[in-house]
Amino acid sequence: DESRTLQVEVTRFGQDEALVIVRDVTRLHNLEQMRRDFVANVSHELRTPLTVIAGYLETLQASGQAPRNWERPLGQMNEQTARMTSLVNDLLLLARLETSERGRGRDKISVRSLMEQVAEETRSLSGGRHQVSVHCAEDCTITGDAGELHSAFANLAFNAVKYSPDGGPIELHWRVDAAGGHFSVKDSGIGIDPVHIPRLTERFYRVDAGRSRESGGTGLGLAIVKHVLLRHSANMSVSSVPGRGSTFTLNFPSQKLTLPSSA
Ligand code: ADP
Repeated sequence: DESRTLQVEVTRFGQDEALVIVRDVTRLHNLEQMRRDFVANVSHELRTPLTVIAGYLETLQASGQAPRNWERPLGQMNEQTARMTSLVNDLLLLARLETSERGRGRDKISVRSLMEQVAEETRSLSGGRHQVSVHCAEDCTITGDAGELHSAFANLAFNAVKYSPDGGPIELHWRVDAAGGHFSVKDSGIGIDPVHIPRLTERFYRVDAGRSRESGGTGLGLAIVKHVLLRHSANMSVSSVPGRGSTFTLNFPSQKLTLPSSA
């Protein structure tokens, strides 16, 4: 009496006719589950050896005992270990987010303080090369998972730094209208050709793999954002002009928000 996963598709024809297709997708569903578990397990298993390697590298560098001509290779080993660590962490986070489309987070998050926090982290990441500003006329509370929402907001802001190598202002905006609340990050960086926009949230999809790697990207950031949004009934829109800059917007439905006046 094992449980099955069914997919139902209904196509209506006029008033009183409909075609109903029921597919048994249990096998597909199980395979997908196995893939997720596998990625999660591998990522988890890789963490311990990475921590050990990073630890010894640090000790060796700090000891001053390493031969002089090993400085560069050691620096590279450090850098690559850090890259692999963020990749493993992102894979693990993504696997965890993918296990359910429905989030259970019931935290009440003030949008304004989240924006201020992300702006501060973005300034420190940018090393003073970008002017980061926060525009939040009306604070709101979002009901959801604090950690997940932070990683969605931060991913967009950090991308703005990574993909505007010549500096330029980065603006974080929050506005509320009848449809809900909208958080956006506006940069004046390299921009994105419209053909790429529909695929940006695919795992490891990059417009320019070399640039992404150089700037420390794992290729998983926007996939993580997408899954966080699914779990908060929200979605993302992107507008961009190549060579001029991009705006990434997260749209939250009003049911997820509490205005300060109605709190
Ligand atoms: P990555 O780790 O490569 O940055 P993401 O999933 O965060 O991975 O983004 C996917 C791709 O989308 C990036 O490789 C980059 O090509 C493009 N991208 C994301 N944000 C921006 C932006 N603000 N400006 C230009 N391109 C962007």
